[in-house]
Amino acid sequence: MDHFQFRETGLHAEDVPVHRIAESVGTPTYIYSRATLLEHLKRFQTAFAPLEPTICFAVKSCSNLAILNLLAEAGAGMDIVSGGELRRALTAGTDPGLCVYAGVGKTDEEINYALDSNIGLFNCESAPEFENIARLARARGTRARVALRVNPDVDPKTHRHTTTGVRSTKFGIDIEDAPAFFDRYAGETACDLCGLHAHIGSPIREVEPYVRSTRRLLELADLLGTRGHVITTLDLGGGFAADYETGEAPSARTYADALVPLLEERVSNGLRIVMEPGRSIAANAGVLVARVQYVKIAGDRRFAIIDAGMHTLLRPSHYDAFHFTWPCSPKEQHVPMDRRASLELEGLIKHDVVGPICETGDYIALDRDLPPLERGDLLAVFGSGAYGMSMANRYNSMPLPAEVLVDGDAFHVIRRRETLEDLFSHESASAPTATPTATPTATPTATHGAAEQ
Ligand SMILES: *Cc1c(COP(=O)(O)O)cnc(C)c1O
Repeated sequence: MDHFQFRETGLHAEDVPVHRIAESVGTPTYIYSRATLLEHLKRFQTAFAPLEPTICFAVKSCSNLAILNLLAEAGAGMDIVSGGELRRALTAGTDPGLCVYAGVGKTDEEINYALDSNIGLFNCESAPEFENIARLARARGTRARVALRVNPDVDPKTHRHTTTGVRSTKFGIDIEDAPAFFDRYAGETACDLCGLHAHIGSPIREVEPYVRSTRRLLELADLLGTRGHVITTLDLGGGFAADYETGEAPSARTYADALVPLLEERVSNGLRIVMEPGRSIAANAGVLVARVQYVKIAGDRRFAIIDAGMHTLLRPSHYDAFHFTWPCSPKEQHVPMDRRASLELEGLIKHDVVGPICETGDYIALDRDLPPLERGDLLAVFGSGAYGMSMANRYNSMPLPAEVLVDGDAFHVIRRRETLEDLFSHESASAPTATPTATPTATPTATHGAAEQ
């Protein structure tokens, strides 16, 4: 479900013609629909209401402050994986008590920042990390709430780059090692080791992996109970699918129908549930709009070279991801009825939609049936609201795109397009030279580090 629709005058984001935004803001631009973001959050909140969960939006999926603010105002907490994301969450007005913090490499500085902010939950990924959180909390005279991230060893049947809950990934600890972990650390006074966390991968298009993962977490909680360790928080993670192709994602209701019965009674006995959806809220709420710069025929291939690429949207080249891509103003016979890899429409031809970056892997769509594209056409890349802008980078010195939030018939720039000056605003414009009095042995380490590159 989303609010991007083709009308007579072309693709609209809610009630705004996409071409109008492109003319005003330029391309490439990420366009988000406020109503879609809120509806997706609402569906989760409604479907899982019997569990009264804390729904923590995964900041890394879409981290624009205005969007975080919108979701925080609608009652969301935030799932963060760095100090930078914590700063974003707090700046956007999130209640710190609704922030849950995962990540395998939390630094002392980040942990201290989270302790000082009094966040709701550390999702701890290893024994040395736990010891470090405890050490830092003790030094500050505070007490950290901690859940142990475990790998329930459930195959989420997704891309290997996004499989996180099986054995031998860098995340969490193996589930059978959890009892020993609790026996060893539950007595730590600077930490309240009160929860279990699992995040098994993404995107997960089926309900079954969640059911298995939840069952395993509950069995573990029971086992821990017999050893005197009380689990008061269960964090089920994120990874719920989005509709990259029409109808691909189970609804929030479908997930809830399977999971609520497993947890309802426990919740009435005081168990607190946390969920961390990112993609399922943001992906379908955003499109990337780009312009065709050139159409180039090479051998039997027809390339549409656009002003967006792997630097703007990394998912196609990094995860082999499919994004439905279509011209914003198609002829009447080419208005798509669905968003799928192949559509039954007359007169489509194969294109490779590629970017300007000097890498063969720089593409948005390969071998895709599309209406014949021409220089100047606007293209929309659907399902780009999650892991789009948040993974964008400046490779080849490409300024980051603009972001726009549409609300009904109005639109607002929520991140201005970067300028060429922005590209090097953190750099020094002249090569540092050694002062005549400096001897090589006295070279400060900063200069030494730079010289090694
Ligand atoms: C990335 C991540 C999520 C969100 O995953 P989605 O697929 O966006 O729902 C949730 N929890 C953790 C720990 C993550 O790393």
